[in-house]
Order: sequence, then structure tokens, then C-alpha cells
Amino acid sequence: MNIVVVGGGASGLMAAITASQNGGKVTVIEHKERVGKKILSTGNGRCNFTNLQLDPSCYRGGGEDFVAGVLKQFTVEDTLNFFETLGILAKDKNGYIYPYSEQASAVLDALRFEAEHLGVRIRCDESIKDILWKDRFTIKTNHASYEADRLILACGGKAAPITGSDGSGYVLARAFGHSVVPVVPALVQLYCEDSIFPGVAGVRCDAKVTLYVEDEAVAQDRGELQLTEYGISGIPVFQVSRYGSRALRENKKVTAHINFLPDFSENRLFYYLLQRAVNRPWQTMEHFFTGIFPKKLALAIVKKAGLSVMTKAQACSASTWKSLAELILDYRLPVTGTRGFEAAQVCAGGVDTSEVDPGTLQSHLVPHLYFAGELLDVDGMCGGYNLQWAWSSGYVAGLHAAED
Ligand SMILES: Cc1cc2nc3c(=O)[nH]c(=O)nc-3n(C[C@H](O)[C@H](O)[C@H](O)COP(=O)(O)OP(=O)(O)OC[C@H]3O[C@@H](n4cnc5c(N)ncnc54)[C@H](O)[C@@H]3O)c2cc1C
Repeated sequence: MNIVVVGGGASGLMAAITASQNGGKVTVIEHKERVGKKILSTGNGRCNFTNLQLDPSCYRGGGEDFVAGVLKQFTVEDTLNFFETLGILAKDKNGYIYPYSEQASAVLDALRFEAEHLGVRIRCDESIKDILWKDRFTIKTNHASYEADRLILACGGKAAPITGSDGSGYVLARAFGHSVVPVVPALVQLYCEDSIFPGVAGVRCDAKVTLYVEDEAVAQDRGELQLTEYGISGIPVFQVSRYGSRALRENKKVTAHINFLPDFSENRLFYYLLQRAVNRPWQTMEHFFTGIFPKKLALAIVKKAGLSVMTKAQACSASTWKSLAELILDYRLPVTGTRGFEAAQVCAGGVDTSEVDPGTLQSHLVPHLYFAGELLDVDGMCGGYNLQWAWSSGYVAGLHAAED
């Protein structure tokens, strides 16, 4: 049976390997000059390829049942075993799994070697010009024409388009009559408007970020916050960003509430600051927070509270310390936008999962058409979840296309 996979990224290579292992005669059509370019940039070049704490609730978009139906067919354990048979020894960093060599290129090489070994034909630098479908698929590219009994679309989304995922997969899906849930950047930095910027650019600190849409808290995460010239970045921001992206697209008000001392309650912080002022009454606000915050951040908070850097601790009233405690634990930043697809790690949105069977990833609309990876309306949290989705969905599409 001839199977064509469009897109040679993480999910496409996985689908190709699985389909080939199950008797398919597989061709991968990739429009970039080489396959798997995005894999090379994952995990800062180290490739966090799965996570031991996997659960369907780590995914957004197309529905937990849909995700669960796919993940249960190719679990984290299956992923670890699969890569081990390909020669990739796993390194566990608090549940975040990397190849032992900490080189993303090792993961891509292992996939490429396996595909080649299985006889998968990989055709790079080929762009799809047309796909005709009657009983079989005829896929016309700028170089050739391919006949296929089964077609797997694994074109990725729109994030990091320089790696090849330029959104053209959505065009192909729509041409088959599929709906696409509007696509927005996710796992992305947020632009904020506040006098604190750009003075705090470069500051990194432990913080809790809670994202509010209108006046409702919709997502929260804690970790290393990075303050930039334009707004906020870092893992906790990435984790909440897809909600901001979606809400901004709907013209809703988005606010990031930053807790700069998440281990303190408001009361405890208030009394701590009072006591600190009693111990150092002579200290000016310029240095009062030394040892708590990086200097740039301390100065920004003091300024925001309307205090002069020359004000001595002994001159501050109890209500000033109370206001400072409130500000530190709930610093509100109006979010005005997100960085674009070029800076995003994934997209939220994609092919509507209600039109796809979670048991097989076959289209409900077009027989023998399958989907895999980020092209579908599924986005995972940061931490190896998106690649796990690529492996699991690639496996399911490849297996069922070959068996179908
Ligand atoms: C900087 C960065 C770091 C990341 N780090 C991690 C991480 O550490 N862990 C993690 O789990 N996830 C990470 N991700 C996310 C993860 O890489 C993606 O979710 C995953 O690669 C998606 O796999 P995919 O196969 O669906 O799409 P892609 O990997 O994007 O592959 C799609 C492929 O299809 C090709 N293609 C597209 N359209 C066509 C077409 N019309 N014709 C032919 N070919 C086409 C593309 O060129 C590409 O090769 C990261 C993403 C980025 C950008």
C-alpha cells in the first residue's frame, strides 16, 4: 500500500516510520531542503522530547477525550522504548526527558537513520502544487507526481515558520473540506504596557504569573520570569500565553498579575517589611530591597509605589508598607499583545478535532486521509508535551493508515 506523508517534521517522521514498520510503502514529501529542522531547535538545542508527568490535561484545544484517545495508544513509556531501540538513551531531569547527549540533532539523526533503514523515500525541496482525490490520492509537486492509497498530513502549524511550518498545511486541510479553528501564537512572550519597561529589561526572578481575561483568572504558573524591554517572557509566561493570545484576538482585556514573592502571604510580607524597617530605619528606598530583588526590579517597584529612592525606611508609614506588600504580591501588567508566530514555540488552533477520529486520526470527511501533529487543534504545555503529541499522533496516524 502506498502511503504519502506530507511534512517531514517530528510527527511526519514518526508516522512514516510506523507506517513502514507496518507494511506501508512510504514517501515523505518535505518542502524544506531537509527534514526535521524544528526538532533541531527544540529545548534550546537539547530536545526535551517527552515528560514523565504526562496527562491529557496538559493539552489544550481539541478536547481532553480526543487527546486521551491518541496518547493511550502511544504512551510516554512507548516513546522511551521507541527511542531506546533507535539508540537514544534518555536523561531524566525532574521528569523532563532529554537525549543523554543533550543534542537535539541526535533525535533527528536517529529518526532519519531509522526511516532510511526501513526504506522510507524522503523527498526534500518539493512543494505541493495540487492534490487530487478520487479512490486514490494524486499528489503533484513542483518535481513529480505521486499516487497514494493513504495520505497523512503532518505539516505542523505556523510557529517558527523559518523551520518550514508556514501554515500551508491548513490550506491543504481546508481544500479537503476541513474546518480550521483560528490559529494564534502560543508558548510565546507577552507585550505589556507599564512604566516599569524598559528599565527592568534583563531581570530574571522567581515569580508566579496569573493571567486574567476580563476579570477572571484563567491560567497560572510559577517559575523563572524574565522581564524584557517590551514585556514578560520565561516559562511561566509561555505556559499562560495561549489564553492571552486567544483573548486578545477576541478583543478582550488581558492582564498579567505578577507575584514577585510567591512564598509570602500579604500579611506575612507586611510584617516582614515593617520589621525590616525597624532593623534598618536609616536605609533609603534605593537599597531597602537589596537581598530580596535584583536592583533594577527593586527600583522599579519603589518608583511604581510613588516613593523617592531617597526616602528613608523610618519615614514610611504602615500604610506605605501595606501598599508595597500589595504591589509586590500583585503587580498588574496590562497585556497589549503577544510576539508573533516567528517567536512562538507552538500554535493554538488548527484542524478541528471534531472532524477527525481520535482512535485512528482518520478524517471523518475524506476516507483514507489522516492527520498528525501540531496541524491538529491540540497544543501542549511547555516541557516535552508538544513533541510527545507529535510522536503519539504520528504513531497513531502511521499505524492506522498502514492497517486501514
Ligand atoms: C524554538 C522551539 C523550541 C521547542 N522546544 C520544544 C521542546 O523542547 N519540547 C517539546 O515538546 N516541544 C518543543 N517545541 C514544539 C515542537 O517542536 C513542535 O510541537 C513539534 O515539532 C511539532 O511537530 P509537527 O511534526 O507537527 O510539526 P513540525 O515539526 O513543524 O514539522 C512540520 C514539517 O512539515 C513541513 N511542511 C509544512 N508544510 C508543508 C507542505 N505544504 N509541504 C511539504 N512539507 C511541509 C515543514 O517544513 C516541517 O518540516 C519547540 C518549538 C520551537 C519552535
